[in-house]
Amino acid sequence: MEIYFDNAATTPLSPRAAKAYIDTSSSFFGNPSSIHRLGRKAKDELERRRGHIASLLGVDEKNLIFTSGATESISLFFSSLLWMEKGTIVVSRIEHEAVSSWMTYLKKIGWNIVKIRAKGGFVTPEELYSSLTPDTRVVAVMAVNNVTGAIEDTKALVECVRRYEKENGRKILFFSDSVQALGKTGLDLKGSDVDGASFSAHKINGPRGVGLLYAKNPEMIRPIASAGGQEGGHRGGTENLPGVAAFDEALSEWIENRDEDEKRVKEYNLRLRESLSNLGLEILSPENASPYILSIVSPLPSEVFTRMLMDKGFCVSSGSACSNNAKGKSEGILEAMGIRNEKAKRAIRISMGRDTTKEDVESLISAFGDLING
Ligand code: PLP
Repeated sequence: MEIYFDNAATTPLSPRAAKAYIDTSSSFFGNPSSIHRLGRKAKDELERRRGHIASLLGVDEKNLIFTSGATESISLFFSSLLWMEKGTIVVSRIEHEAVSSWMTYLKKIGWNIVKIRAKGGFVTPEELYSSLTPDTRVVAVMAVNNVTGAIEDTKALVECVRRYEKENGRKILFFSDSVQALGKTGLDLKGSDVDGASFSAHKINGPRGVGLLYAKNPEMIRPIASAGGQEGGHRGGTENLPGVAAFDEALSEWIENRDEDEKRVKEYNLRLRESLSNLGLEILSPENASPYILSIVSPLPSEVFTRMLMDKGFCVSSGSACSNNAKGKSEGILEAMGIRNEKAKRAIRISMGRDTTKEDVESLISAFGDLING
């Protein structure tokens, strides 16, 4: 039996989301673009789901575009810049590759990229403000880091961008990759006034292949694939209605149980921090990080220790297992936080989910103890 501590990489589909997927596949199988009755029924259901997700996120449904996942949502936002006048993008050094890979490309075609530090895991409003120039068009700082769980102060960061905008009279777009914040406390799209945010269903017990882009001004979003004109012309292709229905149920489940889940997971996180520190391990995640993500320094190279834990039946990550070459990338994120390369190479990410139990946590602590004390 595997005990799963890799929920920041992906999560199992919840029974409620699975049921919604199956029920919607049969009850609403029509193509939402078809004009016959079954098509209209599917279209109505798609819009009902969009409206419900919008109410859960506290935004207007016209600002939500369904995609195949966060990587596509991010790509939809950044590829829209290809239609804009070139300028500078200020981006944190701790972004997920789904964002950072766009910087490499945009730089090649003439955008200026300014990377800002995140000492200790956090981008400060002061650091961000001092990086802005009259040429800045876009700022990208993620909501919650996928390696350390550090929660960025998005509201304060956007406020300082808006202040600069007023002083300089030029619009700056703020993009917040919010994948690891979805369903958890602190996500406030409207209150924080971001221009774009990305989400993914499979990180919150929804299905693979469904994501969401929040766009404050959907008119700026240019489609990658325009054929069909679905999603208000922003994302062509037949809509994944069963996936959207399952995403809605998964998100509802997270939000309905958010406070009690977080209280419980916080206790597990504290217990892990205390026990692993007592074993002499260094904790990398900041104290006020998301309780769901805990990065620590293991005594051995991370891929070796991850395998040793795997042999004992535990799934943890040697970094951000969101790509098939994740190790080097999470090291880069940790180094951007000010952690030495030698330590970053030994980092292990333990990430918990709604299904994690006290027993799971206790057995992980025992496994660490056995491996370290022999
Ligand atoms: N952004 C962050 C912070 C992530 O953790 C992930 C997950 O791997 C992604 C983006 C990409 O999400 P998806 O797998 O939905 O493309």
